[in-house]
Amino acid sequence: MTERNGGCLCGAVRYGVKGELRGVTICHCTHCQKLSGSLFSFNAVAREADYVQSGATTVYIDSGDSGQPVERHFCGRCGSPILAKIAAAPGKVVIKAGTLDDIAGLQPKIEIYTDHAAAWLAPFEGATRFARNM
Ligand SMILES: [Zn+2]
Repeated sequence: MTERNGGCLCGAVRYGVKGELRGVTICHCTHCQKLSGSLFSFNAVAREADYVQSGATTVYIDSGDSGQPVERHFCGRCGSPILAKIAAAPGKVVIKAGTLDDIAGLQPKIEIYTDHAAAWLAPFEGATRFARNM
C-alpha cells in the first residue's frame, strides 16, 4: 500500500497518509488564493481514517459555497496550510498537496474555479477545467 508523508515548513506538524490519493485538483478560488498567499491550491483527497498527524494544527472555520463549515487546518507556528475538512464531505480530508514530501505521480486531473484563475496562467495539461465547482 502506498504511504506518503508530509508536513509544514517548520516541522511542528507532520503527517502520514495511506492509500491512493484521489481528487487531485487545482483550485483557483479566492479562499485558496488568500490561504496560500499564491494563486491556487494543489489539493488531494484522502479518507480521514487513512490520515495520521503528529503536532497540533490551528483551525480556522471558513464557510464553503454550500454555506456549510470548512475547517482549515494550518500550522500555528509557521502558517503552512495543511488540510481542510469540509462538512459537506464527511470522512474526507483535503490535503494541501504542496506539503507532501514527495508529489511523484500526483498530477491534477481537474481545475476548479477557473473563473478566478489569473488571466496569464496557462491551463494545466491534461486537466479538465470547471468555471466553478464540479
Ligand atoms: Zn510549522
